[in-house]
Amino acid sequence: KELGKNRCVRFDASMNQAMVRRQAIEQALRAELEGGHGLALHYQPLFSARDNALVGAEALLRWTHAELGNVSPLEAISVAEDCGLIVPLGYWVLRTACRDASRWQGRHAHPLRVAVNISARQLGDPQFLEQVMDILRAEKLPADLLEIELTETVLMENMEAGAYTLHRLSQLGIHLAIDDFGTGYSSLAYLRQLPMRRLKIDRSFVRDLPAQEHSRKIVTAIVALAHGLELEVTAEGVETLEQAEYLVEQGCDVLQGYAFARPMPVQQFVELQASH
Ligand code: C2E
Ligand code: CA
Ligand code: CA
Ligand code: CA
Repeated sequence: KELGKNRCVRFDASMNQAMVRRQAIEQALRAELEGGHGLALHYQPLFSARDNALVGAEALLRWTHAELGNVSPLEAISVAEDCGLIVPLGYWVLRTACRDASRWQGRHAHPLRVAVNISARQLGDPQFLEQVMDILRAEKLPADLLEIELTETVLMENMEAGAYTLHRLSQLGIHLAIDDFGTGYSSLAYLRQLPMRRLKIDRSFVRDLPAQEHSRKIVTAIVALAHGLELEVTAEGVETLEQAEYLVEQGCDVLQGYAFARPMPVQQFVELQASH
C-alpha cells in the first residue's frame, strides 16, 4: 500500500511536470506570435530523382526560446493544436514560407516550389481557404508554387468539411501532397476522392533500404500505386547514397534527406540555388 501510494505520487508529479511544461510553451508561443523573434523557418531542399535538379524546398518550423531552449516542431505544434494557437501559428508559417518563396523566384533557372505542412485544426478553420488566397496575393506567389502537405490523419479528421476546401485549393493551382504516406489510417478512399498530386513515402520505410525486404516491397507498392493514379512520389529521410540509388531505380520522382541536404535558413537556401 505504501509503495502503491508512492508510485501514485510520483506519477502525479511527472504528469504535473508535463503540464507545467506545456503551459510554459503555450505562454511563450503566445508571446512569440505577439511580436517575438524566436520563430523561424528552415528549408530542406528537394531534388529531382531524374536529373538531380533542385526543384523546391519543404518549410520546417524552428523555435529557439531564451528559457525553453530549442523546442522541437512536433512539441510546439502539439501544444499549439491543443490550445488553439495552431491557427495563428499556421498562418505565420504559411505567410513566411510564401514570402520567402516569392523572394527566391527568379534567382534560379526554373521556379522552385515551397512545401508547407498543415495540421488538422488549420484545415478545419473556416477561414483557411480565404486566408491562403489572401497570403498568395499579398506575397505575390503564383499558386502552383505552393504545395500543401497533409498527413493521412489530418485528412481523416476533415474528410467532409476538408474535401470542399481541398478541391478549391487544387482548382486555384495549389499542389496537394499526402505526407508520411503509409503510417496513418491508410484509407485509399481519399486518394480517389481528393485532388492529390503527390505521395511522400515516410522515412520509416526508407530507413532500412535497400537491405530489408519488407521495406523494399512497401516502397515498390507505393510507387506503383502512386504512378497508377498519376501522382508523383517523394521519398523522405534519404540518408545514404545507396538508399538514393535504390529509390531512383524504383522510379521515385523526388528525393529529400540528409544524404543531399539538411534543413537550412533561407539565406543558405538561396546561396545553394546558385550552385544548382
Ligand atoms: P515531416 O513533415 O515528416 O518533416 C520531415 C522531418 O524529417 C523534419 O523533421 C526533417 O528535418 C526530418 N528529416 C529530413 N531528412 C531527414 C533524414 O535524412 N533523416 C532524418 N532522420 N530526418 C530527416 P523536423 O524538422 O524535426 O519536423 C518534424 C515534424 O514536425 C515534421 O515532420 C512535421 O510533421 C512537423 N512540422 C514541422 N514544421 C511544421 C509546420 O510548420 N507546421 C506543421 N503543422 N507541422 C510542422
Ligand atoms: Ca512534411
Ligand atoms: Ca513527412
Ligand atoms: Ca515524418
